[in-house]
Amino acid sequence: MQPFHAEIISIGEELLSSESETLDTNSVYITQQLGTLGVRVLYKTTVGDDEMRIADVLRIAMQRVSIIITTGGLGPTVDDKTRQAVAIATNRQLVFQQALLDEIAAKFARFNVRMSANNRAQATLPEGAVAISNPAGTAPGFYVEHNGAIIISLPGVPREVKAIMEQSVLPLLRTRLGAPRVIKTRVLRTAGIGESHIDEQIGHLERLSNPTVGLNAHAGQTDIRITARAESESEADALIAPVEAEIRARIGDYIFGIGKETLEQAFADALARSGLRIVIGELYTGGIVQRRLSKATFCDGTLHFADQTVLERLRSAFQGDLRTVCEQVASALCAEYSTDAALVVIAESDSSAMAVTNGTQTRSRAYFYGTDVTTPEVPSGWAIAMGWHMLKSAQRRSDVGDQPASSDNR
Ligand code: ATP
Ligand code: MG
Repeated sequence: MQPFHAEIISIGEELLSSESETLDTNSVYITQQLGTLGVRVLYKTTVGDDEMRIADVLRIAMQRVSIIITTGGLGPTVDDKTRQAVAIATNRQLVFQQALLDEIAAKFARFNVRMSANNRAQATLPEGAVAISNPAGTAPGFYVEHNGAIIISLPGVPREVKAIMEQSVLPLLRTRLGAPRVIKTRVLRTAGIGESHIDEQIGHLERLSNPTVGLNAHAGQTDIRITARAESESEADALIAPVEAEIRARIGDYIFGIGKETLEQAFADALARSGLRIVIGELYTGGIVQRRLSKATFCDGTLHFADQTVLERLRSAFQGDLRTVCEQVASALCAEYSTDAALVVIAESDSSAMAVTNGTQTRSRAYFYGTDVTTPEVPSGWAIAMGWHMLKSAQRRSDVGDQPASSDNR
């Protein structure tokens, strides 16, 4: 079994109940922390306070990952079942640990609170379990090693989870995993290609264990994260390089930058290199394209924004489906503003369309949401990506002597 694969089990009726508003923030936090060790969370499971169900979930987890972290169900009350469940899943007895109870009692004494009899339960752990002290509360955590897997049980209170993770669990795992000296991540940023298409091209790389490759889609863009664990920076680079090369060979055309580089700046840079002047028209988008592009630095006189009244006049002059209208408005805008290129995006409540033209070629696409959507984030991302793509290929064409490329009307 892969030593760097983990499952998080969130325990508590309140996480499943229709009346409760508790969000499972613990598993999000734990996932982030494990990420710093290069540990990948493959599963998150949520289960109520039922010892047989928790034990079942633990047994399944032990068959598929080697690090299991549970959160919740460590309180002193009868509905806190995690200790019993771990004992059942690992075929152990529950054993009372006097030393642990003394520790808990000392905490109560320090807080000047009377300890109740049921706190004895918190000092009763599966045989062979190692207690993990809780600097932020009374319930200790614990861990058990079983058939090559480790089960680490933490309380449910987020503040306590945080304290125990930092103080004990991360150092424990770091030692156990022989943690690498360097964890390096390289982010390739793509636009204009859907997550599922990327997955189709590089899905086989997403199954690698070092480096790992993961996708993260947001508002019309998808980031590809390549993360390597190694003894040195150069070793990490050497692990990342061939994977990056393969990704670039497959979908390099859609990679606009790395790390923190933005699509908006890639658009501005491609515009500068193309030597073109472009006009941008957007209708019913709340001006989001203009707002986004204003974060980038453009050369003087290359970027223009169409006037809303001009746009509305042109929009009403054309008939047909939204995508065709977009194409026609784009051509008309070029003429109206005497630019070389135009980018148009029109949002409607259940669909949006966009077109980009450089005078000789036009690309366009349309989206039907099937439902009312109020956010123009995604179409604005696709529109800027489409503009970037056109400007980039305009530049490539002028490099090779003004050969018009074949029309690509996807
Ligand atoms: P304690 O040992 O401190 O008594 P516990 O281990 O029994 O806690 P719970 O009783 O399950 O934990 O939860 C305590 C608190 O932590 C509750 O307020 C609950 O809403 C919150 N909590 C439990 N699980 C999660 C979770 N996965 N994410 C965020 N909050 C949680
Ligand atoms: Mg609980």
